[in-house]
Formats: sequence, structure tokens, C-alpha cells
Amino acid sequence: MSKVTLIPGDGIGPEVTAAMQKVLEVAGADIEWEVVEAGEAQIEKYGTPLPEHVIEAIKKNKIAIKGPITTPVGKGFKSVNVTLRQNLDLYVNLRPIKSFEGLKLRYEGVDLVIVRENTEDLYAGIEHKIGNYGAESIKLITKPACERIVDFAFDYAKKNNRSKVTAVHKANIMKLSDGLFLDTAREVAENYNDVNFDDLIVDAAAMNLVLNPEKYDVMVMPNLYGDILSDLCSGLVGGLGLIPGANIGKDYAVFEAVHGSAPQIAGQNKANPTAVIQSAVMMLRHLEQNEVADKIEKALERVFTEGKTLTVDLGGEATTTEFTEAVCKAL
Ligand code: NAD
Repeated sequence: MSKVTLIPGDGIGPEVTAAMQKVLEVAGADIEWEVVEAGEAQIEKYGTPLPEHVIEAIKKNKIAIKGPITTPVGKGFKSVNVTLRQNLDLYVNLRPIKSFEGLKLRYEGVDLVIVRENTEDLYAGIEHKIGNYGAESIKLITKPACERIVDFAFDYAKKNNRSKVTAVHKANIMKLSDGLFLDTAREVAENYNDVNFDDLIVDAAAMNLVLNPEKYDVMVMPNLYGDILSDLCSGLVGGLGLIPGANIGKDYAVFEAVHGSAPQIAGQNKANPTAVIQSAVMMLRHLEQNEVADKIEKALERVFTEGKTLTVDLGGEATTTEFTEAVCKAL
């Protein structure tokens, strides 16, 4: 039995994580949940959206899965997600972008993986005002962080029979920071002769991903580009309701969907829980419960192929509950 910390989160978080728990239960996953709350509602009680006992619970169990957490725009508390990634040194953000065969989509056969650096770049949170005139944010890129993220990307490619790693950057303009990222990527690539390597400037990457997404395999990039391109890629395969993610460090792993708390549809039983269910599939593989993971993926594929119980984001009319029941039935 694996003990896992579960953080339901804000907005649609409680709805989609409850759906995920139900699916894992029916699939026979061997998991004991320890539920802890983080997010907006905790501020009144603890004075922070991320109380210390939440971090302690993740440290104790080493594995967590979370719903999205709201971050105020332009003011208020620092992102809980960024704080967790930095505090637990979850330096990898792994986001597989794969189209479900059963879904009728604009693109077919998309199967790429975004490996996003998760601890530095403009997300380091080093910013200050320049009087009333302006503001400055520092883009921090360090050699050790570049080395470990690119090494992870190559190691992942090797272990998962992927043939190419593409480093995404803007080293033509940010010659020192992105230049260091690219130089380091080239150095690390030397250690992996059996995996192809190329690089791509981020604006060209945005266009090429929309034109020919099937050409890409593993893509490794600094934090900000990874954030933006993973949302773009989610759009290629049906939207944010589908794309899972894993924040991985040396000691801990926190699984979560790419999407946010979607406040417009929160509490309406409309959210698509696939992204968090797929995040749980990644978690089950991490826990070596591969058979249960495969079973859940097949059940999702079956529901999409039948096409009768799709949520609103995928053009259907099913509620979160009806979709979850269909997946459980397919199991
Ligand atoms: P969002 O991902 O919440 O929503 C973007 C769009 O996708 C909306 O139209 C939303 O309705 C739709 N959507 C997202 N998930 C869906 C799902 N499961 N099913 C159906 N439709 C879905 O992004 P946003 O609106 O930019 O952000 C809302 C809040 O979430 C912000 O406070 C932001 O900071 C936060 N956020 C948190 C995380 C996280 O916790 N990891 C990630 C991204 C954004």
C-alpha cells in the first residue's frame, strides 16, 4: 500500500480530484490517501495558502497529487505552485502531450513530451520596482539547473524509447542566459550518442508545433517557455482538460494537471477530470502500479472512442459525474 498526500485545491480542484479518487478505487489502485488542504480557503485559518503541515505531509509521504490552486494576478500571495516546486526542489515538470485515438481532433498522432525546468528563470520571483517608473524581473539561469534538466530529458528519452531531444531557447536575443542553457544542452547531448539532438528558437517552436506537431518528440526548455508551450500543445490534442503533469525532484514527486482552477466553471459539475486522472496514471507508473495505470488509460480510451459521454470542453454534454461513471463502467 502506497501512502499519497492529496491536495484537492481550489476551483474545480475538489471536483476533479474526487473523480480521480473514484476511478483509482474502482481500478483497484493500492493507495492510502492522506488529504491536506492548501489554497485560498486556508488563508483565513493559517494566514497562508500553503500551511507548513502541507509541506511536511508531502515530505513524509514523498508522493503527492494535487488539484489546481488559484493565484491572484498582479497582487497578493506568491503562487503556491511555484513555492512548492522551489521548496521541494521539484526541478522537472514533465508534461506528456498525446492525442487519444478515440477523440476526433484537428491533429492526429501527436505524441510529444515537454520537459520544463521548474525552479528558476523568470519564475525565481526576483523582481522589484524602479520607483514609479517601472519594474524589473530577473531571469535567473544557472549551469547546474540547465545540466540536470537536460540530463533528465535525455535520460527520459533513452528509457522511453524516444529518438530525439529538442532544446527550445531564445539564445539569439538572450545570449548569456538562454545562451548558457543552449551551450549546456549541447554539452549534455555529447553524453547521449544514441539520442538525436537539435535546438529551436522558441518563436519558431510555437509556429512549428502548430504546423507539424508530429515532428517533435522530447522538448526541453526553461520555465517560462515550458509554461506557455505546454498550454499551446494541450490545444493541439483537445485542450487543458486532458493534459497531465508531474513535478519531479530527487526526493519527492507531486503530480498535477496542467490546467488551473477554472473559476468560471467551478462547482458546476462541468469540468473534465481526465487531466487529473491521467496525472494519477503517471503517479501509478511512478509507484510501479503499471497494470492499474494501463487499465485506467484503456478505460479512458474506450469512453472517448464510444464518444457518447464527453464533457462540455470536448463538445459533449456529460457532467463530471457522468463522465466519471462512464470511465468506472469501462473499467
Ligand atoms: P485555467 O487552466 O484554469 O483555465 C483556462 C481555460 O481552460 C478556461 O476556459 C477553463 O474553463 C478551461 N479548463 C481548464 N481546465 C479545465 C477542465 N479540467 N475541464 C474543462 N475546462 C477546463 O487557466 P486560468 O483561467 O488562466 O487560471 C485560473 C487560475 O488557476 C489562476 O488563478 C491561475 O493562477 C491558476 N493556475 C493554477 C495552476 C496550478 O495549480 N498548477 C496552473 C495554472 C493556473
